[in-house]
Amino acid sequence: MEQLLPIVIQEYNLFKEFIKEIFKHTPLQKYTNSLDIFDTVVVVSILSVCGLWVLRNLKFPNKEYNQSLFGYLKAQIFLLFVNYCPGVNSYIEKQKANALQSFSDSMERMTSKKILKLPENGIDTESMMEKLNDWIERDSKHYGSGKVSGSLYVMPDKQFIKNAQDFCKHFLYSNPMHADLWPATRQMEAEVIRMTGDLFGQEKEGIGIITTGGTESILLAMLAYRNWGESQKGINQPNIVIPETAHAAFYRAGEYFKIQVRIAKVDQTTFQVDVNDLKRQIDSNTVCIVGSFPNFAYGIQDPIELLASIAKKKKIGLHIDACLGGFTAIFAKDHNVDLGKFDFTLDGVTSISCDQHKHGLAPKGVSTVLFKTKQLREHAFFSIATWSGGAYAVPSIQGSKCGVGVAGAWFTMQSIGKKKYIEYSKKIMDATQSLAKQISEIPELKVCGNPQINCVTFMSKEQWLNVYAIHEILTHQGWTISSVQKPAGVHISLTLQNVSNLKQYVHDIKAAIEKIKANPQEYKKGGEMGTLYGTTQKIPDSKLAGQALKVYLDSLLKI
Ligand SMILES: *Cc1c(COP(=O)(O)O)cnc(C)c1O
Repeated sequence: MEQLLPIVIQEYNLFKEFIKEIFKHTPLQKYTNSLDIFDTVVVVSILSVCGLWVLRNLKFPNKEYNQSLFGYLKAQIFLLFVNYCPGVNSYIEKQKANALQSFSDSMERMTSKKILKLPENGIDTESMMEKLNDWIERDSKHYGSGKVSGSLYVMPDKQFIKNAQDFCKHFLYSNPMHADLWPATRQMEAEVIRMTGDLFGQEKEGIGIITTGGTESILLAMLAYRNWGESQKGINQPNIVIPETAHAAFYRAGEYFKIQVRIAKVDQTTFQVDVNDLKRQIDSNTVCIVGSFPNFAYGIQDPIELLASIAKKKKIGLHIDACLGGFTAIFAKDHNVDLGKFDFTLDGVTSISCDQHKHGLAPKGVSTVLFKTKQLREHAFFSIATWSGGAYAVPSIQGSKCGVGVAGAWFTMQSIGKKKYIEYSKKIMDATQSLAKQISEIPELKVCGNPQINCVTFMSKEQWLNVYAIHEILTHQGWTISSVQKPAGVHISLTLQNVSNLKQYVHDIKAAIEKIKANPQEYKKGGEMGTLYGTTQKIPDSKLAGQALKVYLDSLLKI
């Protein structure tokens, strides 16, 4: 270092002489004559370049896109406090350990005879079947109660389920990655894409990818937009603009693929995305915008035609998340309900995710992501020609995979057929609108927006009525429904499993309100969910709140 400095100074002086020499014959000469000014200019330039570099590269590890500066500072101070104030960290660790214990205790109650090691000798099939039957008997009381939001979508038809199982079991050991060995699963994949694409307005051919579920479909679509933006527009700091109500999978795509997620507000009356707020956040680094059909939390579809015209004008992608609603909504026109266009017949729509394993009524583990063009789809594919293991190319995230998923989708779509899907769509949509009407007639409640497809969410109109308290009471009565937040509400996804119990649902909601009315003080905090959301929303740093939630995952994976 000591030797380096004189060399640098010497070089700098030489450079200065050189500059002076160049400028000697120009009008700038008078400036270079004064050494001070020249030095100042150099120093200022260096500082500016360094400053710009720092500004550009400075990472705000916890700064979220929509966070205010005040919110950011608050979170930073909070984190400093958490990390460096003696006792605070250990207090948090203790709280986490307590939470883990309480989660583990509740898992424990549902765990029978733990196995911790590979058995020395294999167990006979008969005793495993015995255990299986015990499990089925116990668990079906939960998932098969008919009082569950979403989760299990198939029609309650034992024979149909048995047929699907019989068909699918043949593919347990298949691996569609090897198309030469399992030509049947290859054909089924292409046919499921074609059939689904046909429903969503792909006239000439199906352009899509079969995935394991809605999350993977969304991840692949976002990956495609990111890669498209990079290769076609040179965007290396991509962002997407999504409604606040878009599915968690979009936030996950942001985290996995380093895409900035910009959150557009949702109108608190219609529960549709605020199109102006969304538009305002689009810039030259935006690769796509998103609309849900409908969103999970409130069951409301975004104004897709408006979004399509924005996407078209800005020459960016528009992804329609029809994971939940697709197989209900796409048949609406067939029973004379006009939901507006949300498929490829609308110019501007460039990709669609829709789940066979939700209202497609197929066994779990299958969804389809459709693309408007093959060029866009190619950006989601992975291939490497130079891998030591040989040329390698796969369309989705999995490598080796199981053919049961696609077999289930293929069997279900073939077996049910269009007429039956239309009938189911009508049944679910009619029930949704009827449920919304009945709930809106309860004076203490308000239905969120105007749900038409397959979910209904309500919130409380009264100060004394914490909506999570209703959730708590319903839970104790055997309902498994969702509590949503921002704003607080209670959500049910209608399925062919629960649709015949909705009268009971409305009755139980009314009874719960009476119970709370009789004793409002006891229910003020809204039970378990109310307390949980109350706590997480008070933590100024949302990442830290998310980390606390991971304790739950810890308990899931523990035996
Ligand atoms: C369920 C759902 C998804 C994600 O699907 P998974 O199959 O759970 O991965 C995406 N969007 C909406 C609106 C959903 O309801």
